[in-house]
Amino acid sequence: MMKMRRKDLYRQRTLANEISCEGVGLHTGKRVRLTFKPAPENYGITFRRVDLPDSRDIPARAQFVVDTALATTLGRDGVRVSTVEHCCAALHAMGIDNLRIEVNAPEIPIFDGSALPFVRLIQEAGVVLQRAMKEFIVIRRPVQVGDGFKSAALTPANSFSIHCSIDFRHPLISNQLMELECSSANFCREIACARTFGFLKDIEALKSAGLAKGGSIENAIVVDGFSILNPEGLRFADEFVRHKTLDAIGDLFLLGRPLIGHLRADKSGHALNHQLTMRVLSDPTCYEVIRATPGEMARIEATLPTFAAAAAMA
Ligand SMILES: [Zn+2]
Repeated sequence: MMKMRRKDLYRQRTLANEISCEGVGLHTGKRVRLTFKPAPENYGITFRRVDLPDSRDIPARAQFVVDTALATTLGRDGVRVSTVEHCCAALHAMGIDNLRIEVNAPEIPIFDGSALPFVRLIQEAGVVLQRAMKEFIVIRRPVQVGDGFKSAALTPANSFSIHCSIDFRHPLISNQLMELECSSANFCREIACARTFGFLKDIEALKSAGLAKGGSIENAIVVDGFSILNPEGLRFADEFVRHKTLDAIGDLFLLGRPLIGHLRADKSGHALNHQLTMRVLSDPTCYEVIRATPGEMARIEATLPTFAAAAAMA
């Protein structure tokens, strides 16, 4: 990303140009056209179904999540946009505050199953700074959801950092741990290209139920009992936990603003990530929304010494 002055780290960002591309929808198996359109300052991020002419913009916010099985799905007035999480992860990590996203199908294209194609689209369109200052959601009190087996928790921290672990009863996956300081550079290097994954028996069951029609080794790591079916193998030895980290970055973007806090996600997934965001938003003592005005910045930086590092990411 561009070199910029320190105070510019805190300015809102949108894209310099409109950009479109096409890819396959994971569940319908049909070609989907995705368009990113620049949006004015303080607009936020919205999704719109352009195949349904009268449908309204759906804000990328947790209050509009209508389903978390298999993927994170947003909806409004019965209109749905599914599989938003990889796109949202890229927007979160690249610090995009304002964008209209249009799609002509009920789902965002899956591309290769990672966030890298979304990062490339953002980079190709170019990022521009806007006049208004960014807003952040700063965690002020610990919040936890889940049970003894799986959990997701946010605690106050100086930046956006993640501790993510998984534990699958599968010889190729088993225990994996990812710890990440979520700057855009770290995201692009460590997380963006990690693909989603599925077990062959689950994918076959989904296909016989009419789902995952577009699912293939082109857009997911597919694992059977003892091996990985993708001939090219893995992009990282621990690609699985890296993808879970990617999903969490996308799901937490639905807090509505970039996050300043530490996420600990143990065997979490879309459902639990969503529960966590709703728990935070339901209790205003858990968080503070900070607009990065010069006065607020001085106040925040007194208590958050590495805030600038997070802003560089956000
Ligand atoms: Zn995912």
